[in-house]
Amino acid sequence: MLVKLKQFSVGGNRPLSLRCPACRKTGTFQTIENVHDLRTGDIFLGQRFCPDPSCRAQVFCVYDLQSNVVKSYPPQRIDFDSKAIPATIVKTFEEALSCQAEGMHVAAAIMIRRTLEELCQDKGATGANLKARVNTLQSSVVLPQGLLAAMDDLRLLGNDAAHIEAQTYDAIGQDELEVAIELTKEILKAVYQLDDLLGRLRALKKT
Ligand SMILES: [Zn+2]
Repeated sequence: MLVKLKQFSVGGNRPLSLRCPACRKTGTFQTIENVHDLRTGDIFLGQRFCPDPSCRAQVFCVYDLQSNVVKSYPPQRIDFDSKAIPATIVKTFEEALSCQAEGMHVAAAIMIRRTLEELCQDKGATGANLKARVNTLQSSVVLPQGLLAAMDDLRLLGNDAAHIEAQTYDAIGQDELEVAIELTKEILKAVYQLDDLLGRLRALKKT
């Protein structure tokens, strides 16, 4: 979004609801004391900081008359707990989140598909293509049926993103991507984090 500051005044200075790009918690971001926002037409520009005292990250915001944030820098990123997930998979999925935060939906969908590829590889699921590998994965990990079906949808979404002739999805928008990211998080949680949690619970029982 390009804002041209032809005529401006000071004003706004409203608290804004944001997901912090640094600590990724959602909070009400406040203005910096004695620093005014700028107004140009129906758009405000201003600096905010994260309310978490241990974070205090600075974010530049563009927002409208209803205090809806239309753009922020660094961009807001979806929260992701990477605990117990292999580093290569975390790196790929983080890249998907970065693309989504920057509005690069096609690139994000491709990186989500790659996250699935790497998950299959890590779990030793083999096959001629990703569809076959996802099927093989069922024998090595325990996943609810719904999440297995979701993996196939995510595979197709990434497929569409990578190949212009394949058009299962007409366009990959913000909504499709947010759902795809949430599903990928649930899959990663079920494959890696549930075992980790059970292991910790069992370790506690021994003592
Ligand atoms: Zn923060």
